[in-house]
Amino acid sequence: MKLRDMSVGARVLCGGVLIVAGYLPVLISFFSATANEFRGEVSINAAAASQKNASIELLCKKLSEDNSSFVEELLQNKLSGDRFCSINPEPSNIENIPSVPKKPSVSPIQIISSGEFAGSKFVKSNIMSNFYADARKLGVPASVVDSVINNLSSKLDFRRSLKKGDTFEIMYSNKNVMLYSKIKTKRHQAAVYKFTHGNHSAYYFENGVKVITHANSNSFVQPLKGKLHVSSAFGSRVHPVRGGYQKHTGVDLKAPYGTPVFAIFDGVVVKASPYYGYGNCIDIKHPFGYSSRYGHLSRYAVRYGAKVKKGQLIGYTGSTGISTGAHLHLELARNNTLLNPLHTKMVPNEVPLVPNVGSFNLLKKRIEKIAITK
Ligand SMILES: [Zn+2]
Repeated sequence: MKLRDMSVGARVLCGGVLIVAGYLPVLISFFSATANEFRGEVSINAAAASQKNASIELLCKKLSEDNSSFVEELLQNKLSGDRFCSINPEPSNIENIPSVPKKPSVSPIQIISSGEFAGSKFVKSNIMSNFYADARKLGVPASVVDSVINNLSSKLDFRRSLKKGDTFEIMYSNKNVMLYSKIKTKRHQAAVYKFTHGNHSAYYFENGVKVITHANSNSFVQPLKGKLHVSSAFGSRVHPVRGGYQKHTGVDLKAPYGTPVFAIFDGVVVKASPYYGYGNCIDIKHPFGYSSRYGHLSRYAVRYGAKVKKGQLIGYTGSTGISTGAHLHLELARNNTLLNPLHTKMVPNEVPLVPNVGSFNLLKKRIEKIAITK
């Protein structure tokens, strides 16, 4: 059996009726059909559509009678595709027919003509091979594609989780600044918006959480939320319990009993157990020779050997070990040399949110409108 050049626009229904969509006529001829073997040919012919529909019906019927499962599979899975070059299968190896990739629903880059985004460009497409290549092929500048990847890489694994048929939208200014991007996969979607408040612009996810990219993620975060209250500084001091001068190996941060404690950086938990005067103690080994210690905890939220992310909950404050009251003893060292943790830049451990939720939501709506009309 040979079907050739089943074209865009031609659809065959399971019942064996061929519908010629639009103006593309189809010619069919077939010959020599025995019980298990069919030969036929379907090809586009600009002159012959209407009177040949009957022939196609006939062929489909004939095939159906003689080998219904083969035909059904053919009709359901193969002929209903948008494009066909040629298939030439034996009924037994019909599985081997190469599937033809779906036509991309590509719209070329569109220039927004009016409104606040006038002059900006908008593009919407399916992913055909990989996001970067597809966006570049459409003409999106490399810097814009990089910006999309940079801002959404914490939400999506661009190498693994994007598949053919997933979709993306990108809007960027005439100066090639990425203004918006949304990527939709089968399972979820992620979007990022450039939002300006006063004279400060930043990228935010759909839920208003500020995007932390690799470029601004290299600092430690605070082990406690909110403003830190230092009850005892790093360095020499009179020991609060033992008396006498002694070097304080870290800082004491005042916090009510049971306050959540967070890892100050990515690392591996190398201790989560009572340790002399530190009481319940967690040590984390970080990259670049850094390590941190959290003492006097009431409870652990991680175990020895756990891999932690910065800002991740690791335990709760308490007053175990040698301690006069609930607080967190925080130590920081690099290559076994103690450092003053407060001399190291620690960014607040808050989820930074968009400064004006109302106008951010309006921005999202305006962009959504553009996306729908493109
Ligand atoms: Zn201390």
